[in-house]
Amino acid sequence: MSVYGQNNFTWNGTLRQLDSSYSGFYTGLGQPSMTASSSSSSGLEVLLSALQNVGDVESTLNILSVLDELLSAGTDRRIHYMIRKGGSEALLTALVKCGHTFNPNYTILLPLLHLLAKVGHRDRHIGMKAEEAGAVLLTLNLLKHNAEDARRAAACLWVIQVFCSSVSTANLIGENHGLDVIYHLIPQYLTKHLHAIKAAINTFSALLSTKANVHSAVSKGYISGLLWLYEDWHSKDTQDVAIAIRHALLCCLLKATDSTAGRQAFVSQGGIRLLYQSTQTCLLSKSLECLVEPSVQLMRKCLPKIPLPVTSDQSAYTFLLPGTQHAFLDAGMAPDKSSDESDAEEAEYNHEASNRDYDDDLETDLNKLRLPPDPDRPKELLAQYSCLCPELSHDFQELDRSSEPGESSTASSSSSDDDEVVLLDKERIRTTASGGSSSSSDGSYSKRRILIRDTPAATYLATCDFHSHSSILSTSPGLRTMVREAMGEASPCHRGEELDDDEEGESHHRTIIDRLLERHGACIPSHNPKLYRAIASKTKSIPGFTILAFPDFWGHLPPPGHEPMAPRKPNVQRQKVFEDIQRFLKTDDIINQVVFDLEDNDLQCPSDSLRFFSKFESGNLRKATQVRRYEYDLILNPDVNSSQHTQWFYFEVSNMVADVQYRFNVINCEKSNSQFNYGMQPVLYSVKEALEGRPHWVRTGMEMCYFRNNFCPAQGRRKTTFYTLTFTITFKHSEDVCYLAYHYPYTYSALKAHLKVLQKSVDPAKVFFQQQTLCSTLAENSCPVVTITACPASRRWKDLHQLRNRPYIVLTSRVHPGESNASWVMKGTLEFLCSNDLVAQSLREAFVFKIIPMLNPDGVINGTNRCDLNSKDLNREWCKPDPVLSPTIYHTKGFLYYLNSIGRTPLVFCDYHGHSRKKNVFLYGCSIKETLWQSGSAVDTVGLKEDPGYRTIAKTLDRIAPTFSFNSCNFLVEKSRSATARVVVWREMGVLRSYTMENTYNGCNQGIYKGLQTGTREHQDMGMKFCHSLLSVTKDTKILYSRKLINHIDLDNNILDHKSHNSFEDDEPPCAEEIEYSGDCPKLKGTDLDSDVNSNMVGSDEDEEGDKEHSARKHQQDSVGQSQQSSINGHLFPLQTRLPSADSEKRDLRNGVSISN
Ligand SMILES: [Zn+2]
Repeated sequence: MSVYGQNNFTWNGTLRQLDSSYSGFYTGLGQPSMTASSSSSSGLEVLLSALQNVGDVESTLNILSVLDELLSAGTDRRIHYMIRKGGSEALLTALVKCGHTFNPNYTILLPLLHLLAKVGHRDRHIGMKAEEAGAVLLTLNLLKHNAEDARRAAACLWVIQVFCSSVSTANLIGENHGLDVIYHLIPQYLTKHLHAIKAAINTFSALLSTKANVHSAVSKGYISGLLWLYEDWHSKDTQDVAIAIRHALLCCLLKATDSTAGRQAFVSQGGIRLLYQSTQTCLLSKSLECLVEPSVQLMRKCLPKIPLPVTSDQSAYTFLLPGTQHAFLDAGMAPDKSSDESDAEEAEYNHEASNRDYDDDLETDLNKLRLPPDPDRPKELLAQYSCLCPELSHDFQELDRSSEPGESSTASSSSSDDDEVVLLDKERIRTTASGGSSSSSDGSYSKRRILIRDTPAATYLATCDFHSHSSILSTSPGLRTMVREAMGEASPCHRGEELDDDEEGESHHRTIIDRLLERHGACIPSHNPKLYRAIASKTKSIPGFTILAFPDFWGHLPPPGHEPMAPRKPNVQRQKVFEDIQRFLKTDDIINQVVFDLEDNDLQCPSDSLRFFSKFESGNLRKATQVRRYEYDLILNPDVNSSQHTQWFYFEVSNMVADVQYRFNVINCEKSNSQFNYGMQPVLYSVKEALEGRPHWVRTGMEMCYFRNNFCPAQGRRKTTFYTLTFTITFKHSEDVCYLAYHYPYTYSALKAHLKVLQKSVDPAKVFFQQQTLCSTLAENSCPVVTITACPASRRWKDLHQLRNRPYIVLTSRVHPGESNASWVMKGTLEFLCSNDLVAQSLREAFVFKIIPMLNPDGVINGTNRCDLNSKDLNREWCKPDPVLSPTIYHTKGFLYYLNSIGRTPLVFCDYHGHSRKKNVFLYGCSIKETLWQSGSAVDTVGLKEDPGYRTIAKTLDRIAPTFSFNSCNFLVEKSRSATARVVVWREMGVLRSYTMENTYNGCNQGIYKGLQTGTREHQDMGMKFCHSLLSVTKDTKILYSRKLINHIDLDNNILDHKSHNSFEDDEPPCAEEIEYSGDCPKLKGTDLDSDVNSNMVGSDEDEEGDKEHSARKHQQDSVGQSQQSSINGHLFPLQTRLPSADSEKRDLRNGVSISN
């Protein structure tokens, strides 16, 4: 088999062949035996020392043989041991000694270089050591002298490649023309010397690890050279025998394009087109798969950055804050560092890093964990909140009139449309604001101005003026046309008609919508379209919405059955990326026409394009561009007064053709990964379907994926990378009007309407339900707070006393506007608590519920994702909330302080959220002990007393709520979350059970809903199950036993299981197709430096893996005994035609390191 014919000799085999001489050698050195074991350590030192001093060839070769044998067996640990014992230095010294001679002895040099490559490969300091030993330029010189000898050149190249692990060494080689020497060793397509060629390319690539060398390579035009070489190899390597070479060239290009100039050169030399075309041919063969990935990486990396086609990075909606002169905040100037309660942004880093960072983030200061800080306001300010506890002062006189149960009462009033008992008015807010001094007083509070960017700068409109327009509520043009057609009406002769709002519903100017309602009827429980419209007309928005989105108006029913997560097609991302690259290559099908722009009302779009619209409550879509016939780029609007936080979208789309695949790309997403990569789909609502009796939001979209794109901010101020969410939708009906959203929308008006319906639904003799206003928001919408508890059985002292001693449960939701799932969960909680269910009755008798269902109404209304109008994440404002700028948080906290001050600290506090990166539902809570344990803190926790009751609810939910996962919960206190509701309520109010409830946008990976996406039914069910779980913390177990509810839950307050979960890390494995560019070229299997070096030792350098042509030819050569000849006919390592003398050949072969010619 051997190319060396009958000798059958290898480098490693030498050991066995020379067994006797070895034993003699060792004995001579005083070593009884030299097996490849760790006991040989001192022998190693002797060997190394001998290597540097022994002069004769024979001994040196013997030592090298032993060393190689020693290191080839076993693991890397031996090599590292040798490095610690000065192995690299010894080899370098020997190299310098041998290489400096006038006529170097390659019999020694070759094995020496091979060994040095293997050892140096694992020595992080090899570059510096080589410089110190003076071996760097020496090796480069050896290379120059042996450029025509493939085997010797390869050996030198590997060593140089290894030296390049040090930047200074790589630069030193670059400065001494190393780049040129090595570049010129890379030949056009050849079938020979593939090892040496590959070594040259890899070494060139290693040199490009430094900026200086990249710069030099680019300025010398080597990028176009490399491209040309790649094209040559790619086109001529028809038998695919040189895949490794092609791969190495791509890796070289990846390195060379690390600089801007490199990328520009790549693009200007037609690199993208070349790689795009060459990759298309690779897709046909599975064995070429390994070339596709680096090619795609290269193209994506080099695609020029394109500024987002928007006039400004700032939101299209701006809001003039009280006390400020400018509506434009500079939030976008500096990157917002605030991390994210729900959406762990540490996942920007890799897994390990995020874990380490996470542990660093844990609060380990015992004082901060145990002692509450001073209150953020004087005690005198708390009395005002007493009116938010009407149940404590109410006299329940109406109970005496029990004969008239239908009678409305002041407590559970069911009166007019304006029946909110507004107990907290603006006046109070003003007095509490900044101690009354303030920017916003002087009576201007109610005249605060709103600025809309798309109106002329001078057009400042007072909110009250604005508001008067909103009574005209209508539908979008597309919807009007469609509905008109559905009604079989002729085109409108008087356009004004459908704009007339009939407030009482009895006006003879009835709208089309009214007639529709008449014909189809309203069929959604707890939803009344007319009530919705009436309430929406009072909702104040920045743009002054006058149009309702049909789904909010008409209502939604969960579709029957469950919706499975979408399967991911293999390579879908690659396919999408290719389509995006084609745009750059400017194929004929590119249209690039803007068809919707929030800031340009007069925009005309082609009659056959889709129509978009988003100017309605919770709507978010800033711009739409038709890219191809059936493909649209969508740009989302950043949060108000901000230039970031894009994620939430909700828009209308119409003018579609049925059964055509439309591709949508949301091109300015910000998060680095998304559940859209893991089976999640957006939701779609079809008006046609709704009018046919199926008013459902359904999960929709195929070929979903989420990946980094090449857009950048329009003004380039922030160094932001954008991501594309892409999905394909096939509409069922032509000429339909549909709505697409990130998740099931739930507007502020929907909440208000829902509360009103709920209030009317309860029996006021049994349920004490009261809606009040916590405060007014910045845009002057009211923030509702709801009280739910059971009316006392009678007015007797005992019953009233029981009522007034019920523990409080405080629930909040929707502080983050994009988390509409939190509202659906809250809807489930509210409906359940108002229901006749036995558990609900028991809960009302056991507790007083205080619910603030929407902590951020302005954000929800204006379609923001994360922030309030002041571009602040309100869930980072709890430490010291500003009374003027964050009123809802300021007053929620004030109310909690108040409860504290009257000795009624809540038993449970829970803030409902949505989580965009994880599956399931779970709780975050607070535990001192778990935090200290997790952080590895030295604090002795034995003496620390902590009530383990904080785990009870989570444990209970794990048993009773199918979407809930205890394994995803954690109870750790992080520094970065110190200003969140959960941590502040726990620490400052002393609420043991203070939680953030995180609800997935996607679905579950456990339990009975495993593999399914959650819908509104499951969200609402979760809201109900959370209520159920509260039974586990009631102290009044009498209620439970009397109703036989005790089996519902498990009253174990003493759960001792202290297993901690650190589940802030991303719960998904890295995406099958990486969404990031990774810095390195993906490794080709089985082609590491070691195996390359080994094959240079054993056989000819033509010994490529999978090289059919070659093995066939080699076979032939073997049989005719021409093995030596073939390696001398190379193009670039050509012509050392002198044949070895018989003598030298004999010796060379004996040592298995034949110098082949
Ligand atoms: Zn949240």
